[in-house]
Amino acid sequence: MATFEFILVGGGTAGCVLAARLSEDPSTRVLLLEAGAAEPSAGMADPLAWPRLAGTSVDWNYATVPQRGTDNAVISWPRGKVLGGSSGINGMMHIRGDRAGYDAWAATGASDWNYNTMLPFLKRSEASEAGDPAYRGKDGPMRVGPGPAGDPLWEACFEAATEAGHSRNDDGNGNGKTAEGTSWNDMNVVDGRRQSSADAYLGATAGRPNLTVVTKAHARRLILDGGICHGVEYRVGGETRTAFADREVILTAGAIGSPELLMLSGIGPARHLRDLGIDVRADLPGVGGNLQDHPKSQIAYTATRTVRTGRYARKPHVLLRGDPAAAPDLQMIFIDLPVHPRWVPGPEDGYSVIFSLMTPASRGTVRLASADPTRAPLIDPNYLANPADVSRMIAGLRAAREVGGAHALADLRDQELFPGPDVEPGASDTAAHAYLRRTVTSYFHPVGTCALGRGQLAVVDPELRVRGIECLRVADASVMPTLVSGNTNAAVLAIAERAAALVTGEETVPA
Ligand SMILES: Cc1cc2nc3c(=O)[nH]c(=O)nc-3n(C[C@H](O)[C@H](O)[C@H](O)COP(=O)(O)OP(=O)(O)OC[C@H]3O[C@@H](n4cnc5c(N)ncnc54)[C@H](O)[C@@H]3O)c2cc1C
Repeated sequence: MATFEFILVGGGTAGCVLAARLSEDPSTRVLLLEAGAAEPSAGMADPLAWPRLAGTSVDWNYATVPQRGTDNAVISWPRGKVLGGSSGINGMMHIRGDRAGYDAWAATGASDWNYNTMLPFLKRSEASEAGDPAYRGKDGPMRVGPGPAGDPLWEACFEAATEAGHSRNDDGNGNGKTAEGTSWNDMNVVDGRRQSSADAYLGATAGRPNLTVVTKAHARRLILDGGICHGVEYRVGGETRTAFADREVILTAGAIGSPELLMLSGIGPARHLRDLGIDVRADLPGVGGNLQDHPKSQIAYTATRTVRTGRYARKPHVLLRGDPAAAPDLQMIFIDLPVHPRWVPGPEDGYSVIFSLMTPASRGTVRLASADPTRAPLIDPNYLANPADVSRMIAGLRAAREVGGAHALADLRDQELFPGPDVEPGASDTAAHAYLRRTVTSYFHPVGTCALGRGQLAVVDPELRVRGIECLRVADASVMPTLVSGNTNAAVLAIAERAAALVTGEETVPA
C-alpha cells in the first residue's frame, strides 16, 4: 500500500501541469497515474504527422453514439492515451480564444472565474517571445510562437481572410481587447518538434524523488469512505493496486475520463448509476452532462497545382462574429487538402477552409455503457441538436466561402469542390443544412462534463472541489462550464495552473 499527499489521475495536459507544480515543494509526495505509456510513439514529435496518430496505440479511439443531427453518423473521437494526454496527439494550436469566452464562465455563479482572473494563469503557463507582457507570459514552461513564414498557401489564406474583411490582429492571444480578426497561430512547437504538456512540464521534474509517475496504470474506481475520498484503485501490469492520498485525489483524466471515473465510483446521476447496479455515493446529476464540443465542417477547393509543401510553417486562423451583436462565435482555419464529406472519394490536390462554431448551444452527455471500467463510455455530443447551431454554422459556411473564394487565392484555386453550387447559403438554407448534416465532425474540444459553478448541475465548486465529497477535486477540460472561443489546450493549461494555486493555498476563491 502506497501513500502520497496527492494522487493525480490522468497524465494529460492538466495532469502534467499539476504534477510539476505540486511536486515543486520537495516535502510533498505526489503520485501521477496515467493509463497510456510514457514513451512517445513514432511520429508524435513531427508537427505535420498528428492526423496519423488517431487510431494508434496513443489514442483511446472513442466514437460517438449515432448523431441524430448528422444523419446518424458515428463520429470518431480521438483522445490522447499517453503521458501528455491529448496534448501528445493534438494539432498543437495554442489559441486562447476571446476574453468573452472566459467571462461567460462567471455566469454560472462562479463569479471568480473570468478573463481577468484567468489571465495570470494563461500567462504563467506560457513563454511567448512576441507580444505585450501585460497579456503574454514570458517565462512559463510551454514555449509558444508561430512557425516560420513563407508557405505560399498559408500566406495567401491570411491575405484572403483580410480581403474578406477580417482585419489583421497582430496577436490574437495577447490583444487584451479582442481575439477577433485574422492572426497567425501560436503553436506548441519548439525547434520543429511537438511540445506536449509532458515535454513542457515534466522535463523539469526529472530526478524529483517526491514525484512518482506510474504509466500504463488504469484507474478503475475511487476509494471512498463516508463521503471522503481516500485513494484510487488501479490496474497496472495485470495487477490491481491501491494508492492512498493523505490530502487529496485530483482527477485530471479529461472531459471523458473524469466523469467516467466519478460515475464508476458512484458519484453521478443516481438513476443512471442505479440502472447499472452501481452503489450511489453522491447523487450529482451534473456529472457527465453538459457535454459540449466545437462542431466543424469545411468548404473545399481543388487547386491549379499541388499546394502541399510538406514543411512546417506559420498558419493563420480567423475569429469572427456570425452575429454582429454577439461575442465572437466562429473560427476558421485552413488545410492543404480538399476535405471530402464522409466516404466521398475525389481529387487530393487543393485546400479547405474549416469553419467551426465556438459557442454551441447544443448539449450532450457522457454516460457509462456498463459498470465494467474496461468498457468505453457512451459519448453523445448531440451535434446540431439546437437549431441556433445550424443557422450559425450556415453563417460560418457563408463566411468560409467568402474567404476561400477571395482574390488572394485566385492563382491557386481551380474550383469549389464541396459543397459546390447546389448549396447557396441564404438562397437555400435547406441545402446548406443537408450539407452540414453530411459533413459536421468533431473539432476534438470536449468540455463541460464536470462543470464548475454554484447551481444544482455544478459538479465542482469554484475551488474545483467535488460537491458532497471531501478530498476530491477535478481540474481539467471537464470543469469548463462553457467552451472558450479557441482551441481548448491553452485554456486547460491555465485551469491546471490555477488549480495548483488553489490546492497549495496560493490563491483562494470566495466560497
Ligand atoms: C486530435 C486532437 C486534436 C486537437 N487539436 C488541438 C489543438 O490544435 N489545439 C488545442 O488547443 N487543442 C487541441 N485539442 C484539444 C486539447 O488537446 C484538449 O482540450 C486537452 O488536451 C485536454 O486536456 P485534459 O487534461 O483535459 O485531458 P487529456 O489531455 O486528454 O488528458 C487526460 C489523460 O487522462 C488519462 N486517463 C483517462 N482516464 C484514465 C484513467 N481511468 N486512468 C488513468 N488515466 C486516465 C488519459 O490517458 C489522458 O492522458 C485536440 C485534441 C485532439 C484529441
